[in-house]
Amino acid sequence: MSFALLLALAALQASAAPRVHSICDISQEFSFYMDGRFHSQYLKNVGRDARNWGSLHRLDLSNTNLLVLVDGDPHVPYSPESIAHVEQYVRDGGTLLLMADGGEVMPPGAALAERLGVKLTKIAAKKPLRAVEAPWEIEFRGGRVLDLGAEWTVLVQDADQKPVLAQRPLDKGWALVGSRGLFGHQPDAKDPINAAWVTPLLVRLATTKAIDAKRPHEGAFAEHERAVGPLTLEYTDGTQRFADAIASEYALVRPHLVALTGVEPAEGMIRRLLVLPTGGGGFSSGERIAIAAWWGDYPNQRYPMVELISHEAGHSWVLPHPEPLWNEPIATYLGISVGRRLEMPEARRTLDEQIAAGRKIDPDFTRVDPLAEDAARDLVWGKSYFVFEELERLHGPGALAKYFQRKRALVPKDRKNYSMDDCVAVWSQAVGTDLFPWFRSLAFPVDASRTDLD
Ligand SMILES: [Zn+2]
Repeated sequence: MSFALLLALAALQASAAPRVHSICDISQEFSFYMDGRFHSQYLKNVGRDARNWGSLHRLDLSNTNLLVLVDGDPHVPYSPESIAHVEQYVRDGGTLLLMADGGEVMPPGAALAERLGVKLTKIAAKKPLRAVEAPWEIEFRGGRVLDLGAEWTVLVQDADQKPVLAQRPLDKGWALVGSRGLFGHQPDAKDPINAAWVTPLLVRLATTKAIDAKRPHEGAFAEHERAVGPLTLEYTDGTQRFADAIASEYALVRPHLVALTGVEPAEGMIRRLLVLPTGGGGFSSGERIAIAAWWGDYPNQRYPMVELISHEAGHSWVLPHPEPLWNEPIATYLGISVGRRLEMPEARRTLDEQIAAGRKIDPDFTRVDPLAEDAARDLVWGKSYFVFEELERLHGPGALAKYFQRKRALVPKDRKNYSMDDCVAVWSQAVGTDLFPWFRSLAFPVDASRTDLD
């Protein structure tokens, strides 16, 4: 194909966009990948995406022609209402992509698949995979084969000719079910595997439903909210049963964070707590913290949740100036410290293990520069914890609180940078001792002449 023709085609594609109105669902199971990366890998140039954070059965799908679902987590089943809603959307002309694999424990998506006439199985797909009637090159990260009903057409099969991706018409719409291993995973969106054929396939099926491209389709946010003290709790039908417990953990943790830091959260921070349908972590955008509902096997285990809530909330205490080097370690250290105040034995263990891991790299913490670009994670985290513990031992009690109070007083909100030199200057003033030599003895390349906070 000539370059000029390619350009013409690209222009045509751009002028015709968006042809696909997709919604990626993160209400059944949250992942950063589904929060935008799937779209950027497969639909960036052909469509507009919205996300669904709210209960699926409440979602308006009238102006959507591609719904992307994952098989989900057993903690949040696909509700009968949601399954019926998705089926109706397909019957009305929409296209569904369900990325799903069976397993020893069947995921909730198995119930939706079954409604559409396909069973997920425990049988591992054998490489190499090949497309049945297309010249597609198939990249595959591993997964399980499907057990198809008669209405289904196999698109991709494994070495034993068992289906791995299949499609079926259902009234006016299309259902596609395929192994998760055919699609990208990376939160940085750098693995758009199979995009050369996935994109045209999705476009071909989705565009059988006409959409009003002038009117954006809308995603939805977690539909329930409730005030719990100064906090607005946000959750869905599926995460409701975790919401109250998590809110009470925050209520328990908060006074300890105030005691440890000596300050309230930065102005305007932590107004909202979103309960995320995942076991895998959380995030903080300052005003909102998002907490994984069943993190660390919560509510069966409590310490990991106390640590996570304190970590994510801790970011809102640290702002508006993130800490240099140890912005993440200090958040977890706050969590460990809250756990210790609550006399949870896992807290001490977590601290000791990380310091020991750091000592494997730098036995007395005097040799390895933690700010070096190639500094190992265990060194950075272990040394950070060691420094906080030593500062408390040498300058406590309440050394960390003195530091945060001094930081609030000394560093203007609109200051652009907050470097390690600035940080040591604030620490020095907080404890009334010039700490630059001490930090240098621990291989921090800090220099008082590089900060104006001295
Ligand atoms: Zn963090």
